[in-house]
This record gives sequence, C-alpha cells and structure tokens, in this order.
Amino acid sequence: MDYKSLGLKVGLEIHFQLDTEKKLFCDCPTEFGREKYRFIRELHPSLSELGEIDPAVEFEWKRGRKYEYIFAENDCLVEADEEPPKELNREALLISLAVAKALNMKFPDEIYVMRKIVIDGSNVSGFQRTALIAKDGYIEVNGKRIGIQTLCLEEDAARKVEERENLVVYNLDRLGVPLIEIATAPDIEDPREAEIVAKRIGTLVLLTGKCKRVLGAIRQDVNVSIKGGAKTEIKGVQYLSLIPKVVEYEVLRQLRLLEIRDELRKRGLKKEDLDGNIYDLTEILKNTKSKIIKNSLEKGGKVLGIRLKGFKGLIGKEVQPGRRFGTELSDYAKLYGVGGIFHSDELPAYGITQEEVKKVYEFLGLDENKDAFILVADLEEKARNALRSVLNRIKIAFDGIPEETRAANPDGTTRFMRPRPGASRMYPETDIQPIRVTGELLKESEKYVPEPFEVKFERFVKEYGLSKDLAKEMIEDIRLSLFEELVKKYRNVEPKVIASILINDLRYLRREGYEVDRISDGSLDELIGLLDKGVIAKDSVNDILIELSENPEKGVLEIVKEKNLFKLSREEVYKIVLEVFEKFYDRISEKRDKAINIIMSEVKKVVGNRYGSRELYNIIYEILKEKGFIT
Ligand SMILES: [Zn+2]
Repeated sequence: MDYKSLGLKVGLEIHFQLDTEKKLFCDCPTEFGREKYRFIRELHPSLSELGEIDPAVEFEWKRGRKYEYIFAENDCLVEADEEPPKELNREALLISLAVAKALNMKFPDEIYVMRKIVIDGSNVSGFQRTALIAKDGYIEVNGKRIGIQTLCLEEDAARKVEERENLVVYNLDRLGVPLIEIATAPDIEDPREAEIVAKRIGTLVLLTGKCKRVLGAIRQDVNVSIKGGAKTEIKGVQYLSLIPKVVEYEVLRQLRLLEIRDELRKRGLKKEDLDGNIYDLTEILKNTKSKIIKNSLEKGGKVLGIRLKGFKGLIGKEVQPGRRFGTELSDYAKLYGVGGIFHSDELPAYGITQEEVKKVYEFLGLDENKDAFILVADLEEKARNALRSVLNRIKIAFDGIPEETRAANPDGTTRFMRPRPGASRMYPETDIQPIRVTGELLKESEKYVPEPFEVKFERFVKEYGLSKDLAKEMIEDIRLSLFEELVKKYRNVEPKVIASILINDLRYLRREGYEVDRISDGSLDELIGLLDKGVIAKDSVNDILIELSENPEKGVLEIVKEKNLFKLSREEVYKIVLEVFEKFYDRISEKRDKAINIIMSEVKKVVGNRYGSRELYNIIYEILKEKGFIT
C-alpha cells in the first residue's frame, strides 16, 4: 500500500508507569497488596467547564453499570475518594521533568493539576488527575524530526479484574500509580515508522531506570487517520511489534468502510430513508433449531429485527482479516449485553434455516436479492437497545467513518470500545496548589536525566562483554534496569549470560507460545541467584522458565525441587560418563570418530539439564583422552 498517497497520519500516546516509592497523590506504595474489603459505587456524569456532557461520558453513563472496588491493604482513603489528595509526588515530578528535558520540550511557568472526567469506573472519583508537564518537543528518528506534543504526569486508573453485565470489578492497587503520558504529533507516515518511534521513546524512558517492569507497565495507544477517513484512537497495544500491524489493519478498515459508503451512494441509498423501526419476529422463529434463539426465548426473550433496504452483501463485507462490517455492528450491539447479532449476509447458519430466512424476508417485506436484515435475540429491552445502537452505527456509514476509541486484539485487528471523547472534559483540581517550575527544580531533576544510549551501549559491550546486537536489545528491553541490578548482585554469572536469558531465552519461549511475560522480576532474580550459587546448571533455565510461565506464583527453588533440577557435581557426572563408557565400549571402539557424540547423547539421557553441556563435553574429552581414544 502506498501510505503517502493515502495520507496516512499516525500519532502515538505512550504511557509509562513509574517505579516511584509512593503513589502520585498519597503515600501508599506502588506495589500491589492483599484484598481487605470491597465497596460498590455508581457514577453520574457531571457537566464540564463548558457546560457540555462529553459523548464518551454520556455513552458510559447510558450503559447504567455499577462498579465494585477492591480495597487492598496497601490502599488508603485517597484511592477510595474519601479523603482529598496529598501534594503531587516530587519524585514522579522530577522524573517527568527529566524525560521532558531529554525530549527537548518546553516547560510552562507553572504546572496545574487538572481533573479529566472518566466514567468507566476506573477512577472512584469519576475523574483522573493529570498535569501537563511540558510541550512542543521533538525526537530525531532516522534523521527525521517527530514532534512531541505533550508530556503529562497522571495517576493510573484502577485495574479491571472482572466484567459482568451490569457490574465491573476494579482493584484499587493500581489507582494512583504515577504515569507519564507522552503524545507525539501525527508526524508518523508509515506503519513501520510508528514502531521505531515508539521504541525510541520507550528506550529513553527506560534509561531513566524509573519505569516499572511489570507486564502492562508500558501501554501504547495509536491514533490513525487517512485522507477522507476519521481519527481513530486504538488503545492497549501490548507489544511494540504489534504496532505496524495495528496501523496496517486500521488503514484497511478505513478504506473498506469508505468503499461501503461509496457503494451506498452508488446504490442511491440515503440515511433519511433508513427504516428506524424495530420488528418483532418471535412468532416466525419460535420453533427454530438455533440454540442461541431457543435459549433466549426460554428465558422469556424475543427475536427483534431491523430492515436494511438495499444493503444486500454490505453487512458481510470484510473490513479487517476475519472481521466484517457485521462484526463492527455486532460490537455496538454487544455493549448492551447481548451476545451478538445475526445478519442476512451470513444466513442460513447457526441453526437458522433457509426456510426461516425466507420467512423473515417476507415478514419484513424485503427482497432477498437486494435487501438485508439484522436480528437480535435476547430480553426485549436489551435487544431493543442493541438494535438502536446498530441503527445509529449504520447511519454513520452513509457519511463515512465514526470517530471511535477502539481496543486492539492480540492479532492486530481492533474492536469498538466507545466514541472518541471530546475536548471538553477537563477542569481544574482545586485541592492541589499549582507548582512553580523554578531553575532549582529543573536542576534537581537532572539526576534522573537518562544516561545516553551511546554511553550505555559502549559500557555493555566493553565492560560486560555483550555482543553489539545483544547490548542494543538489552538497552531497549523493558528489563533493562533489572539486568543492571542482577549484574551488580551476582558476580559469578557472566553479564552476557544474564542478558541472554532475559533477551534470547524469553524471546524463544514467547515465540513457542509460553506466556513468559507473566514471570515476575522477583522470580528472574531468584533464578539468576541459583545459577550464581551453582544450585542449577544454565541448561535447566528453560525448563524453569516454562514452569514459571505456567505457574508464576511458584518459587524457583520449589520448581527445582519438584523437577529435581539440582545441578550435579563434577564427581557425579564423571562417574556417569565412565559407566556409559564401559557400557557402550564396543560401539565406541567401532566408531571412534563418533565416540564423543555417542557418549554425550547417552549421558544426557541420565543427566538431563542438570549439568552444563560445555562442562560435560570437557569431562568426556578428558576421559576419552585418558583411555587413548583421542590423541
Ligand atoms: Zn493511598
């Protein structure tokens, strides 16, 4: 695809959780704690400064959900919104100033804490506190200047742990953890470039050594638009490597939706002519074999439908791999608690027969060859709300693409989350005094200004003996500061071995499908510690990592015991090699040139990964030499 001529514009919003001692507006630690009790709240939208209700806020409010909060032993009354916030955390402030400086940004005279309305329940108070720290900076990437619009310091939202139809459960442990939000200008013009820019910004923040290192500590949002399209905000892209795909698929989606708009125009269809009525089709489908419909009817539900004159073939049109226009509509329906929709382009299917499809067409007075319909089976009110939501989405299709906030799926496709918020959702936090940006403050922040990439790179290669590739990857990795800690702590393990475990082994296992990102820093620390003391051999590291990815709460020593992975002594291995030598003496004599390989594979059967391959090789070599097999 020629992204230039499509007018692709990509902007990034990257969030980094800071590893500060305390939360942003209270003295609670930023570590997770055990549950103490739960409480329930409902939220209502309040008017913004401009006296308007934000569309995203209104949307959440209409869903009418309740929120349950888990109050943990590490939390205080600030998180529960029972007490006003304390002063802005100074450590977090200094770190953000340092990052802003590294991004060539300009500082205001005073920093104000603002309240940003959020009503998905992720903040107990109904707003998120955020402070603009700096603006108008830039970063040079491959000779091109990418603008950095803003850097904000904000409190992280509560952590969603469960979502039921009318209730969302949040854990307050994450609420208030300091978060740096860096927003680039829409200067990125290519999907690959988006990944490179995200990586460069990520490296810069990681180099401060103050970024948290748990899964989800860095979260990327990607804003995508093309000429004639709409600005779409895609939230929660977990991996950098997924960014190009997310951008590519979003461009594809926007192009396909524009094609649908053009086709609607070509067919002479108009928004005003769309039938907004909802029809009851329960009678027609009351004896259907479709399990979904049968279940709904048994619960006292109904089958409701809408008429889409002239839409034949359009609902089934693919907009992203494996996702159709119908899937987009279904996302809108699902927000009202229904399981999904049936549309005529995919029927007969799901137990709905050709005969039944025909009857529905007849009942709705539609032409099977030209028109389409959509059905929802559920309790009447839910089905009605869902279909209304679908109708509203279809109306937008006549004009093009709606401005949406979407969520990234693991395969790079996206799904609708909510309408894009407007600009009118900020107002000042009156509980906190503005902070003057003085020369003194800026000077103090200098201690956090990151060691430049080149300096660290030199050090890793020269001092630690890492290859250039490994050094580069280690610096760009989320576990950079863990690496530096481990190198200092464990002198018996070579730095390049530690780096290789953190980079190569984890990457290999991730590719094999293991969820290695669930492994905590504490476990990795313990693992390297056991290597350091010679309790385990390097060869059993992968076995342990696999077990940890499946049971991250297990202790490493516990796993070593369970799987009997204790490193064998040289004497034990020596003895085993001798035994193998005797047992296979005839074979080895016959094939002298293969002697090492034969013994190696036989010994491995006994020793497994409990001894290093290189050391084992040395023992075999030694014995064969003694026996005169090698001269
Ligand atoms: Zn607190």
